[in-house]
Amino acid sequence: MADQPERRTSGGCMCGAVRFEAVGEPIIVTHCHCNSCRRHTGAPLVTLASFEAGQVRFTKGERKVYTSSPGVKRAFCADCGTTLTWESDPRGQSLIEFHIGTLDDPNALPASVHVFHGERLPWFDTADHLPRYETNRHGKEPYGHTPADDLSAG
Ligand SMILES: [Zn+2]
Ligand SMILES: [Zn+2]
Repeated sequence: MADQPERRTSGGCMCGAVRFEAVGEPIIVTHCHCNSCRRHTGAPLVTLASFEAGQVRFTKGERKVYTSSPGVKRAFCADCGTTLTWESDPRGQSLIEFHIGTLDDPNALPASVHVFHGERLPWFDTADHLPRYETNRHGKEPYGHTPADDLSAG
């Protein structure tokens, strides 16, 4: 694998004031259906590419950080309002997760799981067969792998 160039994931906000780059593979890419992500973005759900903080460099401008709950920060561009990150240190690991729509090539990093699926909007689901976790995925088993209609149909 030494011959493979390391993946470089670049992105930024809508107005271009804030730019970032992450080097190496993301830890995971998740669809998050939680109420807090929904409120922060105004979207029915979010998709986040998770990196260790050490993989990430902000290459232009400064993100504005909002502490949404103790230990959890969410950043955005103060000029254009673009939602940029979820940032925290769960389990001692310092993470910066980028909202997928801020990446220059969001197509490069497809999501592999749904988290907080238990908080999803009932009228919104996706027709994939990715594992669905009712809350977070740590130390837990997914409660389904299909859209919600199939879950309730048993
Ligand atoms: Zn901006
Ligand atoms: Zn969330």
